[in-house]
Amino acid sequence: MILLPVLALAPEAQGILHEYQSEVDGKPSYAEQVEAAATLFKARNKSSNKTFREVRAKLHEMCSGARRCCYCEDSCADEVEHIRPKNLYPEQVFVWENYVYACGPCNGPKNNRYAVFAKSDGNLLPIVRPKGAPLQPPPAGDHVLIDPRRENPLDFMELDLLGTFRFVPTANPGTREYHRAKYTIEVLHLNDRDILPDARRCAIGSYKARLHEYRNQKESGISVDDLKQLIQGIRRMPHPTVWAEIKRQRQLHAELAVLFDVVPEALDW
Ligand SMILES: [Zn+2]
Repeated sequence: MILLPVLALAPEAQGILHEYQSEVDGKPSYAEQVEAAATLFKARNKSSNKTFREVRAKLHEMCSGARRCCYCEDSCADEVEHIRPKNLYPEQVFVWENYVYACGPCNGPKNNRYAVFAKSDGNLLPIVRPKGAPLQPPPAGDHVLIDPRRENPLDFMELDLLGTFRFVPTANPGTREYHRAKYTIEVLHLNDRDILPDARRCAIGSYKARLHEYRNQKESGISVDDLKQLIQGIRRMPHPTVWAEIKRQRQLHAELAVLFDVVPEALDW
């Protein structure tokens, strides 16, 4: 999970999203806003809706590889996901900055799971909404889930490239940064789906092979255009977090440290 590129939606589509949002915000009560958010999003988030076609196209540009999920980076992204759940934050249901493209296995379990740091004591407070209870806005407080549109998840966690290929919080236990990393890893199931560590292990092999190929081709004197194609190939690969960690942790791997010494330009890809 990496910091996503910031891309702007075309002004016309942005304007229509604002209109959609005003319709929700204009409802007289929070409960009615929650209901309108669910109903109107379902009705408009369709391929027949021009604005949502543009939303999806732009979200696609933010994905790695062949439209890989922005959270797990492995499965195909096919759901417009609200970072802040629309059932809790209806005022964010049609907000472009609240969208990422995600896969079902990431989006489904995340659903309405969300937490804030309580204003009173700073403790992590999961937002629980018992069935049948009156709908109330979530308590105020700083958001726990790491937002990959605004924050670099790798400032909070690192991928263990030497063994488990699972994410590990980097801050000291008990700190707010530690809780944010741990919560994000758990809610998105970034570690406990066996296919993900396996896929990351495969990805590091592929990245290394591509880097070796680039080094060899460069030394053989191929054209600048052909080299650019090789670079583009690396940039288009899935699991960009693995690539980011390969660069960040290169000194821990003798083979990588040597490779980057020979082709230091790869640190900028
Ligand atoms: Zn996913």
